[in-house]
Amino acid sequence: MAVSPIWPKATDIDENGAIVFHGRTAESLLEEFGSPLYLIDTDEVNDRAHHFVRAAAEAFSNATTHVSFAGKAFLSKRVVREVIDAGMLIDTCTMGEMRIALAAGAPGRRLVLHGNNKSDEEIALAIEQGFAKIVVDEPGEPERIARIARRLGKRARVMLRVTSGIHAGGHEYISTAHEDQKFGVPLLPADADASVLDVLDRLGELGGPGDSCDSGADHAVDPVAIDPVAVDPVDGNRSEAGAQSATPVVGENSPYALHDDASSADKALIPALNAVADGPAIAVLKDILSRSAELELVGVHSHIGSNIHDANAFIQAAKRMMLLRRTFYATDAYTLPEVDLGGGYSVAYTDGEDSMDIDVELRRLADAVTAINRALGMPTPAISFEPGRYIVAPAGVTLYRVGTIKPVHLNDAKDSAGNPIHERVYVSVDGGMSDNIRPALYGADYTARLANRRGSDETMLARVVGMHCESGDIVVHEVRLPKDLRRGDVLAVPVTGAYGRTMASNYNQALIPAVVALSESGASVMLRRQTIDDLLDLDQD
Ligand SMILES: *Cc1c(COP(=O)(O)O)cnc(C)c1O
Repeated sequence: MAVSPIWPKATDIDENGAIVFHGRTAESLLEEFGSPLYLIDTDEVNDRAHHFVRAAAEAFSNATTHVSFAGKAFLSKRVVREVIDAGMLIDTCTMGEMRIALAAGAPGRRLVLHGNNKSDEEIALAIEQGFAKIVVDEPGEPERIARIARRLGKRARVMLRVTSGIHAGGHEYISTAHEDQKFGVPLLPADADASVLDVLDRLGELGGPGDSCDSGADHAVDPVAIDPVAVDPVDGNRSEAGAQSATPVVGENSPYALHDDASSADKALIPALNAVADGPAIAVLKDILSRSAELELVGVHSHIGSNIHDANAFIQAAKRMMLLRRTFYATDAYTLPEVDLGGGYSVAYTDGEDSMDIDVELRRLADAVTAINRALGMPTPAISFEPGRYIVAPAGVTLYRVGTIKPVHLNDAKDSAGNPIHERVYVSVDGGMSDNIRPALYGADYTARLANRRGSDETMLARVVGMHCESGDIVVHEVRLPKDLRRGDVLAVPVTGAYGRTMASNYNQALIPAVVALSESGASVMLRRQTIDDLLDLDQD
């Protein structure tokens, strides 16, 4: 039985009140593998990976689903094998991530390359290895990828990352789909009025072509009432040819024209279609399509942020991607086969915090995707997801050894609940921002627990801090710990499996801790601890 829902399922408390992971006490793990120590419960990773893949497949029972593990959350060869075994693909975005995934035996067709500044070498390796997707992030990239593909005599499968304008995520730095950031190509022109997209929330009421369909989902809908406008395949410019046979209803300048029997939904869509058709994303899709000798256009991609609790943001972004797909069908008669909705599914870091219930939320998302495609008269595309944190964060626990304990007297201070406090006890541990930068980077909250014994019932208000030369070097902002806590005790911090080890640094020449894999079959080193020799080896003087 887990200690609480935020701990790995196989966590237990023994008769001395010590925390036990798969039968191993925290103390025995530190004695064998050293301190501080990252633990990753690989059974938990495997369960969570299988769960996500199954939840996606069940929710979208009318569509193909792909789930990619975002390797930046945590990457080692063993974890690559766990998630590949669960049927996932793996997202990479650097040569290092690509090479680790390949070294673990992941086939190229199960890998994805992301990045806002890919090198030619990274692009070439992805093409050589036949990656499932290379995600284009800027307008100049299709030309670069095509050039490299031509040189290699291969065709590259590409997607376009689109910024939908939907804001989401726990922190500005992990919110990635608004305009003022570095990722992706905007859906709408810079001067567009985004309120034209509000029609997406009203389509169901307007009665679209899908209303008469028994199953709008997986049949290819007949040519809808909007004519695809003829496209010059070389320069991608619209010509007027496709519009000539129809009755214009939306003014002289519109590239679209409707059949006489256009539904009210189609008419209502025209301003949104026009705005999207003039946007940067469509221009890049056209460019990709015009390079079809070297590039296979797989679809569009949206990643709206990280640690998102509310599935409504995914639904809004998904609707916009479906509108983009509908517009591209109208302009270029091309049906994008896949829409990738990215990652960002939240987990609880502290007791009482919510994590996303993916069984419920993916079903809600699936219903919305089915409904919007029905209203747009489009077949449902393959849908893909890219969870990182959701798969690994709750599988990880960090163990630290307690050092200096220093009470600090405060005047006029309050705890996080707003209660006045007169003392805060600073508990220093033998790691900190070098093994978990998230509290310093995003103000992320964690909790901690005395792990080697029961401890007194009486507690104190503590702040767990690291051993680095920064006052922002905080591990846990606020936690109640036993009053009799002492030097040499072991503290366990749960939910550290994502963005801990992968963001670790050698600040203060701290040695990056080992990662121990724990499972029913025992404990073993997954990534070894750095040594002083590793540091000295780098120093070539
Ligand atoms: C970071 C990232 C993810 C994973 O985010 P999580 O919050 O770990 O789920 C998925 N896709 C892309 C493109 C990312 O950058």
